[in-house]
Amino acid sequence: MIHPHTELRLVDERIGHGVFATRFIPRGTLTWVLCQLDQIYTPEQVETLPAPYRRIMDTYAYINADGTWVLCWDWGRYMNHSCAPNTLGLGAYADVAVRDIQPGEQITCEYGMLNLTEGMPCHCGAPGCRGRVEGDDVLRCGEAWDAVVAQTAPLVALVAQPLRGFMQDPVFLDELAAGRAAPPKARSYFHAS
Ligand SMILES: [Zn+2]
Repeated sequence: MIHPHTELRLVDERIGHGVFATRFIPRGTLTWVLCQLDQIYTPEQVETLPAPYRRIMDTYAYINADGTWVLCWDWGRYMNHSCAPNTLGLGAYADVAVRDIQPGEQITCEYGMLNLTEGMPCHCGAPGCRGRVEGDDVLRCGEAWDAVVAQTAPLVALVAQPLRGFMQDPVFLDELAAGRAAPPKARSYFHAS
């Protein structure tokens, strides 16, 4: 489930749609959590989907470390990649804002954490853009992402968390906020396909 203070907007014809903040979202806010309305498919189920459905999965779904495919039920599935994203995975089942996000700013994530089945060119325009996003980027960049998430984790206790009630494991959030738990390493999301 995507944060309630967001909306879907057309970025341009080449990129398509993206998710934009409608209000200020402070650093430390969970911007997305895996929820009970998201649709989860086994690799076998995806394999047997007719081609038109498969194209939708390839475009909008992501793959978890256990190989299952997740299709977000809301506009979270339109979140675009940036090589300098303003959100990163906080564990496999949540994204956290790693910078303050201003109203009207696009919310971006790191596709290098999502086990892409095929690499894709990147035109995100961020300083340090990698030029391509690959399914195994997490093996090269994961430690840098871990450092950013580790700096952000203590802030989760200090800001409003409207998605807390939708989390599978809200106790994890409390443990993290109290410093009794550490965020999982980004590398732990990797699925060797
Ligand atoms: Zn890029």
